[in-house]
Amino acid sequence: MNHSHEGFQNLTNVDVALARFLQSVRKPGTQTESVLVAQSSVRVLAEDVVAKSEIPNSDRSVVDGFAVKSVDTQVASDRNILVLRVAGESRLGKPCTGTVRNGCAFAIATGSIVPKGADCVLPVEDVRRLTRHKIAVSNPAKPGENLLRKGEDLTRGKVVLTRGRLLRAEDLGVLKILGIKRVRVVRKPRVAILSTGNELVDSQQSKLSSQIVDINRLVLSAKVKQFGGMPIDYGIVKDRKELIIETLREAVKIADMVLVSGGSSVGPKDLVPSCVNAAGKPGMLVHGVAMRPAMPTGLASVSGVPVISLPGFPVSATFAFLIFGRPMMTKLSGAKSVPEAKLQARTLEGVKGVKGYRTFIRVVLKKSDEGFTARPIYSQRASVMMSLVAADGYVVVPEKSGLIPKGRLVDVTLLT
Ligand code: AMP
Ligand code: MG
Repeated sequence: MNHSHEGFQNLTNVDVALARFLQSVRKPGTQTESVLVAQSSVRVLAEDVVAKSEIPNSDRSVVDGFAVKSVDTQVASDRNILVLRVAGESRLGKPCTGTVRNGCAFAIATGSIVPKGADCVLPVEDVRRLTRHKIAVSNPAKPGENLLRKGEDLTRGKVVLTRGRLLRAEDLGVLKILGIKRVRVVRKPRVAILSTGNELVDSQQSKLSSQIVDINRLVLSAKVKQFGGMPIDYGIVKDRKELIIETLREAVKIADMVLVSGGSSVGPKDLVPSCVNAAGKPGMLVHGVAMRPAMPTGLASVSGVPVISLPGFPVSATFAFLIFGRPMMTKLSGAKSVPEAKLQARTLEGVKGVKGYRTFIRVVLKKSDEGFTARPIYSQRASVMMSLVAADGYVVVPEKSGLIPKGRLVDVTLLT
């Protein structure tokens, strides 16, 4: 779908633009490194992890109670109360040597080893303790009841975590219990970040109202870290062609991806697209995307390295990163699909996009009795930073309709 807008000859559809951008990278995620399991959270596994032992390593009780032979309890009922002798116990952290014989029970704690002879556990709340050595049983139990069998959680030889997995906190627990100390992961994608603009300063040095504090580098760098990358700061670069070209050439030598914010449109002050083309081949793949915000986004490949030319407004820069930068980082790290967190909410009012553009409307979520509701933030302008900061997520308004009516159930992509 092509449009003519704000000086752009034509705008590229978001999906087409993303596909073209992703295709420009051939062999991602080939460099790997070994890291301590404790440091492996949010890293991408570069190998399959196979269980070398069984979990649990013996039958274990999942309740506090009494380990018994299930056959002994078959005839138990309210009318036929059976009395079993407590002949021993299995305690946590202690080996259990005894054997449960017919008519006997062993006291057992949650997580401790089921003694030989027993094949089920009666929960403590289901039996009545008559004396120190006697319990009364009025319910029959089935074999295997209330215990976790040896190898039931993990069998030896099972592939537990597969290559390409973005490791989560709970995965670290599995690695640890299997006795694994280090894992091989994909090297973090290195993302060079630079801001362009003569007006930009790192902190307001004077009362000159013409100065603008550069916030894109800080925000993008935090986003890159959040998605498992390693940001490299290339600072603020003045709007001078030779400086921008030189910085880009330096960056593509070191980085796996480059983010350049500012100067991305088609005005005389917008130098970045032509600098990208001058920095290396093939240069710009897409310039101008049918989306709001971030329409002036440019997607490029310079000497094999993906480069994004992001519009300067922080809200636009963030969306250009979320829609194009994040999927590219996933591709670069060789990670398997990392789903975005979404939830469904009902629109409290009509959600207006811009027809012909994929519009990302920032919304505030509220929990009600019938699920969540979504209300668009009062201002959707890219120049209003709070349109993003105050939002819980965003709703995608399709190009075709440009509108989602009030009362519809919509997907909200969460920003948290
Ligand atoms: P540009 O895309 O360069 O035309 O910039 C659009 C608007 O965003 C201008 O008001 C810039 O001052 C502002 N801007 C550009 N880069 C940044 C940045 N890194 N941080 C904050 N604002 C920026
Ligand atoms: Mg600028």
